[in-house]
Amino acid sequence: MDLLSRRARTIAPYTAGEQPSDRRYVKLNTNENPYPPSPRAMAAYLDYDLDSLKLYPPLEMRALREAIAAAEGVSPENVFCGNGSDEVLALCFPAFFDEDGAGAAFADVTYSFYPVFCGFFGIPHTVVPLEEDFTQDLSKLTAAKAQGLLVANPNAPTGIGIPLAQIEPFVAANAGRVVILDEAYMPFFGQSAVPLTKMYENLLVVKTFSKGYSLAGIRCGYAVGSRGLIEGLERCRDSFNSYPVDRVCQAVCAAAVSDAAYYAETTARVVAERARLARALEELGFAVLPSCANFLFARHAERGGKEIYAGLRERGVLVRHFDKPRISAYNRITVGTAAENDALLSALRGLLGR
Ligand SMILES: *Cc1c(COP(=O)(O)O)cnc(C)c1O
Repeated sequence: MDLLSRRARTIAPYTAGEQPSDRRYVKLNTNENPYPPSPRAMAAYLDYDLDSLKLYPPLEMRALREAIAAAEGVSPENVFCGNGSDEVLALCFPAFFDEDGAGAAFADVTYSFYPVFCGFFGIPHTVVPLEEDFTQDLSKLTAAKAQGLLVANPNAPTGIGIPLAQIEPFVAANAGRVVILDEAYMPFFGQSAVPLTKMYENLLVVKTFSKGYSLAGIRCGYAVGSRGLIEGLERCRDSFNSYPVDRVCQAVCAAAVSDAAYYAETTARVVAERARLARALEELGFAVLPSCANFLFARHAERGGKEIYAGLRERGVLVRHFDKPRISAYNRITVGTAAENDALLSALRGLLGR
């Protein structure tokens, strides 16, 4: 349509996992947590003073940032909150990259929103291929010509995690430019680089309430980093939307982040199910990448990725298939409850005739 800008006409938007409503599915395609949010988070929602919704949310998000800071062992000045970590990641591009600069560098197989953000903000990017086994040689990323680097750890959609012992020298080796670590799945790995943000002012760690905190529906994410980086994000946010996190969301997420005991338990359950599901998939003839996240990336010895995806969908189980180079033989399977995982396994047995 000619009323649209050139950018709106030509950008390639991100494709989110499908949310079909034609029937009830066992939904293992978007990495949501199968367990409910903490009782404290739900109480914060139910007890919320609705009369106060007539007022704009607290601009500084003080209570939420204090709660996150306490949980992360940092200062509230070093915390930035946004409407989902996707928004926080989006704001990183105008905050840390120039349109006529050396651009961003990230892996070929990683969160597919990164190149979309680059396209939207007109920022060039360099793709650094992962190794044959989908691990990332960080020295190759360090060698890339770029204004800043992005790494999802654990990576998506592979689930492979990079130990903290490898992250620190990588951050140190890139002292002159920003390193953004997307730790959306870190609760299931437990090797967060947040403590390093106190030593390295080039490091920004981005986290979300969507996966570990079972709050994908409320849309909140945050970043932890040096005051200089956080200020860059604030300047960009305040040039776009000063109130991205609503009042109820602030209260619910502050309650959630203060309930570590509850989430330690749900996370342990996901991690235990992840191991059980991986073994069961291997028995069915799948090669499963070692996962540090709440999903598995698996390829069958005989059947194609798309065929498995379609066969499961017919049987009422949704998984995520990416029709892309290097990974089209795979499916990304969210770890669900034991019952959901059993439903997946039984659908697979039917599909594979076992
Ligand atoms: C899910 C996910 C996010 C973003 O989640 P939000 O719901 O926007 O907070 C960010 N990065 C990766 C790698 C993800 O998988």
